[in-house]
Amino acid sequence: MMSGDGLVVRIRPPMGRLSRPQAGAVAALSRRFGNGILDLSARASLQLRGVRPEDHAALIAALQDHGLVERDAGVEARRNLLLTPFWAAGDRSQRIAADLSARLAAAPDLDLPGKFGFAVDAGDSPVLQQVAADIRIEGAGEALTLRADGADLARQVTEQTAAAAAIALARWFLAEGGAPEGRGRMHRLIARRGPPPAHDAPGATSAYTAAPGPLAGGRLVALEFGQLPAATLAALANAAPLRLTPWRMLLLEGVSDIAALPGLILETPDPRLQVSACTGAPGCLQAQAQTRALARDLAPMLPAGLHLHVSGCAKGCAHPGAADLTLTATGPDTFDLIRGGRADARPARRSLSATTLRRTPDVLTKDT
Ligand code: SF4
Repeated sequence: MMSGDGLVVRIRPPMGRLSRPQAGAVAALSRRFGNGILDLSARASLQLRGVRPEDHAALIAALQDHGLVERDAGVEARRNLLLTPFWAAGDRSQRIAADLSARLAAAPDLDLPGKFGFAVDAGDSPVLQQVAADIRIEGAGEALTLRADGADLARQVTEQTAAAAAIALARWFLAEGGAPEGRGRMHRLIARRGPPPAHDAPGATSAYTAAPGPLAGGRLVALEFGQLPAATLAALANAAPLRLTPWRMLLLEGVSDIAALPGLILETPDPRLQVSACTGAPGCLQAQAQTRALARDLAPMLPAGLHLHVSGCAKGCAHPGAADLTLTATGPDTFDLIRGGRADARPARRSLSATTLRRTPDVLTKDT
């Protein structure tokens, strides 16, 4: 994908994991072929930025050599699978993800939209319900359910039937006209069509929220704006294998403590966790203004508990849902303010300058 600073190249490692050598290789490739900056996306993929078009083929070949990109482009496109970062070697989540990956690889006729994805979230309780996914395999203690995104009810499955049932549900989505002209998402089909046949069991529910800090199996570290400097990735590669998460955080396997590194947020509370901001100008071709410097400056001034999203345009990539406060750029130094809505919602205030926002951050929450 072309962006304002060159090509963006997405890596979706198998099982969402980078071994230490793989992480070190990605850091080196980012410096060699890109601009030394990586982004961690809300789908838990790692994106190298600033890649020169003439280097694209060599970069992909190097990533294939490290087992990070499939040699078959169709298999790579279909393997849109998000796995709970808290899987353990040989556990239910990992076994189902391996089964589903193999079935997706063996289904070249399964022509799903590019953004259509699966979530394998089969621990004791789901952790990925706030993350976009079209088909979800979710655990609730011993039980396991398959759920179409947007449906309240689910279908009970077993570890042995889950992956095949997920593929069948994807085929049902296509057969029911969920992707006219190759585009569409499950929740839109469910809103029109209702739940799939035999989906009549209660689904698992959970309000899991991730936070940086130690936990069983390692330590979560957050990335400021989801951005990872290659030098920081290289340092992390020396410390531990990494698991990518959809929360703009990395899980460092087996590590309880880590030294401070540029771009890392190690503990809560940290005001930077209250803001999200997309790439903005000049890195994104659609951006109307810079975003991250403003978000960084406003973060310490936000009332506790409020989340601010600064978006370079109305697309709202960094926070697709509603936020407490959203500043949507409309020009090089003008932002519309939306309260309790998405980046494209009706503004409460229009054309606020970055200077006004920095000098009088009260305008975010007060009308006068
Ligand atoms: S929200 Fe707009 S400016 Fe920001 S990354 Fe997305 S397309 Fe670019």
